[in-house]
Amino acid sequence: MNNSFQNIILFGAPGAGKGTQAKRLLAENGYVQLSTGDLVRAEIATGSTVGQEIEKAVAAGKFPSDEVILGLVRKFYETLDPKCNGVIFDGFPRTENQARFLESMLADMGSRVHHVIILEVDVEVVKKRILGRFSCDSCGAIYNDFYHIPKNKKICDDCSGTSFTRRTDDTAEAIDKRLETFLEVTRPVLGFYEGKAKIDVVDGAEPPEKVFEVIRKILLS
Ligand SMILES: [Zn+2]
Repeated sequence: MNNSFQNIILFGAPGAGKGTQAKRLLAENGYVQLSTGDLVRAEIATGSTVGQEIEKAVAAGKFPSDEVILGLVRKFYETLDPKCNGVIFDGFPRTENQARFLESMLADMGSRVHHVIILEVDVEVVKKRILGRFSCDSCGAIYNDFYHIPKNKKICDDCSGTSFTRRTDDTAEAIDKRLETFLEVTRPVLGFYEGKAKIDVVDGAEPPEKVFEVIRKILLS
């Protein structure tokens, strides 16, 4: 790892904008994103036994077990580009157990978590963001029924594609369960990082460009 390498946790409820912010940071700063959501979806796509197990949990509005997630994270670090400037964690760690595992894994590599950035967003905003979200099948552009629909409803603004996809786990019931789990299990993870990493709170209800500017200042400070 290079000297300026940083491990950065983006922390917030599902729908707080972690993924959006992570992608912007990657584009501008040479970071690599660790999204357990992406790792999980990739594993499901392989059709492996582990993938099938994960699929069942997700369909029930649950998260895969720590054991499964930790295995995916370890694999991610083993194949990490040593020239990258850092890792942005999006959706991990989700439990105190995962936080402890991450700490010992990073310590083995002579590293640690440097920043924890909390994206605070109201629950009702989060629900609209998740329930309304859909993306273009051709170019991946992300839209939202409540906040950002294409100019011509059925045609993508960016590529004129006409086929869109909604994530199947984004039902109202599943979201309620994920929010509940966040408050009960994930929120307490912050306590683990008190005194161990620099913790900053950012207003995630602001427009994405504004949130990004605030985060960038934090990382440069
Ligand atoms: Zn498109």
